[in-house]
Amino acid sequence: IRDADEQICRAGQAGNQVSRSFWETLLIEHGLTDDGYVTPDTSDIQKEHLNVYFNEISYDGKTRYVPRSINVDLEPNTMEVLKHSKIGDLFSPNSFVNGQSGAGNNFGKGYYTEGAELVDQILDITRREAENTDCLQGFQLNHSLGGGTGSGLGTLLMSKLREEFPDRMMATFSVIPSPKVSDTVVEPYNAVLAMNQLVENSDLTFMLDNEALYRICQNTLKKDSPNYDSLNSLIARAMAGVSTSLRFPSQLNSDLRKLAVNMIPFPRLHFLCTAVAPLSSVRNRSYQSTNVQELTASLFDANNLLAQVGAGGRYMTAAALYQGPMGMRDIEDTIMAFQAKHADQFVEWIPHNVLTSHCSVSPIDSKTGGTFIANTTSVQELFTRNHAMFSAMLKRRAYLHWYTGEGMDEMEFTEAESNLQDLIAEYQQYENAGAEDEYEEEYYEEEEVKEEEF
Ligand code: GDP
Repeated sequence: IRDADEQICRAGQAGNQVSRSFWETLLIEHGLTDDGYVTPDTSDIQKEHLNVYFNEISYDGKTRYVPRSINVDLEPNTMEVLKHSKIGDLFSPNSFVNGQSGAGNNFGKGYYTEGAELVDQILDITRREAENTDCLQGFQLNHSLGGGTGSGLGTLLMSKLREEFPDRMMATFSVIPSPKVSDTVVEPYNAVLAMNQLVENSDLTFMLDNEALYRICQNTLKKDSPNYDSLNSLIARAMAGVSTSLRFPSQLNSDLRKLAVNMIPFPRLHFLCTAVAPLSSVRNRSYQSTNVQELTASLFDANNLLAQVGAGGRYMTAAALYQGPMGMRDIEDTIMAFQAKHADQFVEWIPHNVLTSHCSVSPIDSKTGGTFIANTTSVQELFTRNHAMFSAMLKRRAYLHWYTGEGMDEMEFTEAESNLQDLIAEYQQYENAGAEDEYEEEYYEEEEVKEEEF
């Protein structure tokens, strides 16, 4: 199996902050120093797949690993913070692109005006990076949907990359806004406009919901007033977990396309929820070794999803990825028993829809751990939540002038709204669908055709 390369773009404040946590986690998991060098302690298994996310640069007799990443924002501040952070020297100086004026929490500025001016420069760097890779498997976009840059410029970049690299995978890690975390009133506008883009142009979107992240930090991890660092470290664990099989030897989902083939039964329904286990404070975790049964129960608990949804949905597909010392047999038996016991939570028309994978490398803070990826119909609740706030404002055309001021038309809002309503209906339809429904319809259709033929 050939290693495939992946390229990361991140846009906006959340995108860059989330990415920083992600790279910090990767450095630890792969035994690299903050500026990207291996140490005598770095093991072969840690080095083996480094080229998935890093370029290997030999200089002065030493080998340095440089993230294949482009850091973008419409204002300079986030870039400065990243450059001066503890991993600031990790990135190539050419990987930073920033505007001056900011996106003012306005999708229109990110997509049509300020962002559009910057997008060619970003594409040039992306193209150059892509040419340097052995075998580009795809792109990973880290962004939030609530602001202007991540939602607007992020999705503009996504659609341009899709045009230019139509056969490469596009995965996004998208932070969903929550009024509990941010009080900017126009966030539902930006989020719905961005979701509209994601439906069409992304292959895999991991939904990272600030509302759930905040609740888990507060209630489960017992942090009194969680800040973005707390939310981002949970996100980073999920991102690292999801990419474990790309970065370490393992049997399943060893590239993004395989993951998509397994997880996405219908092209529009590519919005995935994640969970990580064990969920306990870092201090406790280092004393813990959680067994396969405990990890499984925790991963399948809707309360632990990094998306605020109820327990009523059904899994179309799911993947449970385990790390640390444990047996594959134990994993498979546990999943089978779980599925048998909770059969009503899984659609019956996709047999074997829970995939399992095991990687012997332990996660950072615990001996054993797990990551869960779910394509569940309950993800529609996130769309419904954002849509409700969006449509309440749109009815009165509140704040619309900020967007029309950037050249946007009201039509774009109504189109985005109806695309999202369709998506919600599609999820609902598959939640209700039984194994027999379609079959019966087809059966009767066939009967009718036969009768006509006679
Ligand atoms: P942009 O730079 O214009 O894309 O704007 P932001 O990324 O700041 O978007 C604002 C939204 O992102 C709000 O919903 C914030 O709550 C959220 N956000 C901003 N920074 C972070 C972060 O570091 N982590 C998380 N999880 N959310 C963030």
